[in-house]
Amino acid sequence: MPSHPHDLLRRAIALAAEARAAGDPPFGSLLAGPDGAVIAEERNTTVTGADISAHPELKLARWAARELDPATAAATTMYTSCQPCQMCTGAIARSGLGRVVYALSDEQLAGLKPGGGWPDVPQEGPALYAEARVPVEGYY
Ligand SMILES: [Zn+2]
Repeated sequence: MPSHPHDLLRRAIALAAEARAAGDPPFGSLLAGPDGAVIAEERNTTVTGADISAHPELKLARWAARELDPATAAATTMYTSCQPCQMCTGAIARSGLGRVVYALSDEQLAGLKPGGGWPDVPQEGPALYAEARVPVEGYY
């Protein structure tokens, strides 16, 4: 059973290689408990699953939020082959996971990915505050 942080990152990197071999983008991630035991693994399946959100970090964040109690989630670390993207970072924050350890940084990935990055889609708002607040007010 791997327990050294670099062994856990190497397992995430191996999952990234598995994703690439299967025809998907090369990214892999896992969740480990405080003792270093692996409790869940995922790899990218955006191509083979025809799902733009099928990043391993997002799949694991959803799994953790569904399957782990808050204390267990907070004691769980995500090890991932690459720094999580903005989509996954938002999901990880909502999942209650306690920590993320990554191998490649965003900057290092950009150096390996010519023309990488995503366009900024224009957003317009706010609008219709009096109407839009009605279903929200009192919910929280
Ligand atoms: Zn992502």
